[in-house]
Amino acid sequence: MKINRFLYFGDFVAIPAAVAFFAYWAFAAEGLAAAPAYLAGLSGGLVVWTLAEYWIHRVAYHHWPLLSDLHDRHHEAPKELIGIPSFLSMGIVITLGYGPFFAFWPRFADGFATGALIGYAFYMFVHHATHHWNIQPGHWLYPARVRHMAHHYHDEANFGIVTGLWDWVFGTTGRRRDRFAGA
Ligand SMILES: [Zn+2]
Ligand SMILES: [Zn+2]
Repeated sequence: MKINRFLYFGDFVAIPAAVAFFAYWAFAAEGLAAAPAYLAGLSGGLVVWTLAEYWIHRVAYHHWPLLSDLHDRHHEAPKELIGIPSFLSMGIVITLGYGPFFAFWPRFADGFATGALIGYAFYMFVHHATHHWNIQPGHWLYPARVRHMAHHYHDEANFGIVTGLWDWVFGTTGRRRDRFAGA
């Protein structure tokens, strides 16, 4: 759905607040003793986010009912503020990032939810920037922009937003993406 600016940009306020909450919660409970489990969770959450992002985009956004309608609209009108309201998507990320671990490894769960949220925020930021910023060669986001613009032309390739790693692993890297660099 096309959503208003508040719901679209809400993530950029709500996610840092949630990240701060989980970090405070982990370290307030156990002090520095929380660090190993928290950092292990954080790294795991970040990596798992990039993998989840790849499959959500490849399967859910391109093939599932409703979500694919929404995503088709984004492919047709890339600059429109289309998305899922932040409280909903963030709630899902927190539930899936925190829920599986908190009962038996709470500090890892705090870290994992933090990592997944940071990955999600980074995905939102990079995707927004590739469509709305004037990114030129040499800019650190230029590879992400080239990769994603090629996806808008060839929707069977380049599903990764934050990283092209999983496209490489699963064989969906756009072969001729340089051709679309100016798109
Ligand atoms: Zn896009
Ligand atoms: Zn797509």
